[in-house]
Amino acid sequence: MSRIVVVGSINMDLVTLAPRFPGPGETLLGSRFFTTPGGKGANQAVAAARLSAAVTMIGALGRDAFGDQLHAGLAKEGIALDHVARLDDVGSGSASITVAEGENQIIVVPAANARVTPAQVEAARAAIARADAVLVQLEIPLDTVEATLRLGRRENVPVILNPAPAEKLPTEWLRLASYLTPNQHELATALGAEAQTDFRELMRRAPCPVVLTRGGEGAWYRDDAHPEPVQQAGFKVDAIDTTGAGDTFNGALAVFLHEGLPAAVRKACAAAALSVTKLGAQGGMPSMHAVEAVLA
Ligand code: ATP
Repeated sequence: MSRIVVVGSINMDLVTLAPRFPGPGETLLGSRFFTTPGGKGANQAVAAARLSAAVTMIGALGRDAFGDQLHAGLAKEGIALDHVARLDDVGSGSASITVAEGENQIIVVPAANARVTPAQVEAARAAIARADAVLVQLEIPLDTVEATLRLGRRENVPVILNPAPAEKLPTEWLRLASYLTPNQHELATALGAEAQTDFRELMRRAPCPVVLTRGGEGAWYRDDAHPEPVQQAGFKVDAIDTTGAGDTFNGALAVFLHEGLPAAVRKACAAAALSVTKLGAQGGMPSMHAVEAVLA
């Protein structure tokens, strides 16, 4: 069983379906509203847990109704929550999502996610030292991301840095990451490069191994053993909802990393392809059994 630590965000997604987007000052009647758990950290933790990994989450929630719901949901997935702080003076993170005319508009309020501290990462040192892989994204304070990268190095545990949402990153951090897992836009932004630069060229330029996701086309990887980018083709599926495909990919990559990069990328592509065949970020995340069936 893989042991995975995820340092990241936990959000409640508040989704409204509407006929069109309202203008400033306008009130519209929508057709549907629902809440669904999200946040890149929580999504990646759930993806890894569904694949039978022992997952420890480091994060923060408010002591509000959403916090209770999100906490219970993660616990139900079997994720260890001892390092998820419950904060009294701030709410849980949320993403207000309006879906209209096949597009979406999203406002994220980080709230408790902005209070995940480097001290929490230090406090989880024993769990990190025991882990097979650590996952971290950019929806929490950047000094906490840096503390995670440094602790991973110190403890000789591979850290997968998923540089999302897109942000320019210090070269030193990129060197500290064991693997960077961007899409093309995130890689160009992380490196401070022109958006139009060929993605293979960007992969060669990165100062660390890169696993780049390309939607339905699958993923490309480059590391010391494969100095030229190699493609893993995507698995053909009927895509229903691609929300959370990247998070499923990252969670699975962490779980299978001990099998070597080519095998891990192939299995991550299989898991992510399965995830897009169902609605919702966490709704479609597959079990180990389902991934093995696709690969058989
Ligand atoms: P998101 O933010 O929507 O999660 P992303 O840009 O982070 O997306 P993508 O590159 O779109 O990530 O998808 C991640 C992985 O999911 C891809 O590498 C691929 O393996 C798988 N995937 C995504 N879309 C499809 C699809 N339509 N068919 C098969 N596999 C897919």
